[in-house]
Amino acid sequence: MKVYSIKELLSKGKDALQEEVIINGWVRSFRSNQFIALNDGSGQNNVQIVIDYNNFDTDTLKQITTASSLRVEGIVAESKGAGQDIEVIAKTIKIYGYAHPDDVQETILQPKKHSLEKLREQAHLRFRTNTFAAVMRVRNALSFAIHQYFNTNGFCYINTPIITGSDAEGAGEMFTVTNFNLDNLPKNEKGHTDFTQDFFGKKTNLTVSGQLEGETAAMGLGKIYTFGPTFRAENSNTSRHLAEFWMVEPEMAFYDLEQNIDLAEDFLKYCIQYAVDHCKDDLEFLNKRFEEEQKQKPKEEKSEHNLLEKLDFVLSNKFVRLSYTEAIEILKKSKPNQKGKFKYPIEEWGADLQSEHERYLVEKHFKTPVVLFDYPSKIKAFYMRLNDDNKTVRAMDVLFPGIGEIIGGSQREERMDVLKMKMEELNIDEKELWWYLDTRKFGTVPHSGFGLGLERLVLFVTGMGNIRDVIAFPRTPNSAEF
Ligand code: ATP
Ligand code: MN
Repeated sequence: MKVYSIKELLSKGKDALQEEVIINGWVRSFRSNQFIALNDGSGQNNVQIVIDYNNFDTDTLKQITTASSLRVEGIVAESKGAGQDIEVIAKTIKIYGYAHPDDVQETILQPKKHSLEKLREQAHLRFRTNTFAAVMRVRNALSFAIHQYFNTNGFCYINTPIITGSDAEGAGEMFTVTNFNLDNLPKNEKGHTDFTQDFFGKKTNLTVSGQLEGETAAMGLGKIYTFGPTFRAENSNTSRHLAEFWMVEPEMAFYDLEQNIDLAEDFLKYCIQYAVDHCKDDLEFLNKRFEEEQKQKPKEEKSEHNLLEKLDFVLSNKFVRLSYTEAIEILKKSKPNQKGKFKYPIEEWGADLQSEHERYLVEKHFKTPVVLFDYPSKIKAFYMRLNDDNKTVRAMDVLFPGIGEIIGGSQREERMDVLKMKMEELNIDEKELWWYLDTRKFGTVPHSGFGLGLERLVLFVTGMGNIRDVIAFPRTPNSAEF
């Protein structure tokens, strides 16, 4: 007898008729002492198990409750039920684990609609819900697509450190890693904590980006990417920020900014197309959910398109490319700016763009993904290549509907003298980054890269509204329960 996953069995459909099979799963519902809806997490759809209750002792029947786990041996038969080709007529049933209805009553396992907030409070049980399981399977498909894309395009996957000794980027946003007894910190003459006595002999942090290390690898391997956890202690309690998230960072030697943007667009479309091709059931389910949710929204917040249309729209349109300077002109003249509707009004060139501005450009003005480039050097990181105007850098941000920034990247400053000047301006210690500067000393080359937050991509593809609902165990301010 063959053990099938429910997805496998259902996709075999009528070809499996008369076959004797073994199915494992959790009970979603048990009707009329006769029909069990069983799900094993392999896909959105349940398989119907039919039992003739005369053939089973009451003890077994009593244990078939919502959430309990079973092993079923049976024969595949044609189903008379709507929406399913086949069902399994049970011969024997083994109960792995019984779930008491009173306990289930208290949890999100109870088969009814629960809020996403409630689901978050039971993160350890969320995987059993249709919505979260669908999101996790889409996330899985996207992660796979990311590796596949880079692998087939000649990129080398490298792992950059999670514990870093450099705090050049993201000062103040980093989590310190220490081995000290926090109740008894060693002090130096100045009265500061003496990190020379710490585990690594210096102050270390959790990484905010693998880019600088990634650049060193690209300077030998050509095209690399990293894909790993990233940590930011930014206290921004938004629906798009996590304290721990997964970032994909390709870095390419010999790429200029145009090539970098081309790659970003091609890469995003590939991943979205992959999900569309491989997650049909889950995306259809999430699409329905999205449509339901839109109905509850006030008119001005309603999306013009449903989820599947939104995905298709991104796939079939070229992203608009626009300089920061052009974007500022559009924003200055925009209705919300004129009418004082922006929380941060756009007054002059040099302003940092907020999510409200990014979303205006994408959702209202262009109605398509937008890539902004050539930002003021003052609002961007030190390693971005300075333009000849001496005031903008070769930065680029990819902005998506409903999300805002999904990718941030740049062509890197490959000229040692310009890079050093910039570091001096920003008080970044050259001695701290001697290994980074070395890449500009031994055969420097033009190069580029970007960072994509995996969760922001999953948000977009699943149509979920809050980033906490697209990662298994979200880390946010005041929240690390599981
Ligand atoms: P934002 O302005 O949205 O905070 P950022 O400019 O800080 O983003 P980068 O430092 O350029 O972002 O990081 C690259 C990408 O990583 C972003 O485009 C985004 O997709 C993702 N990202 C950044 N911060 C977070 C976060 N706290 N949680 C989840 N994803 C993030
Ligand atoms: Mn940020």
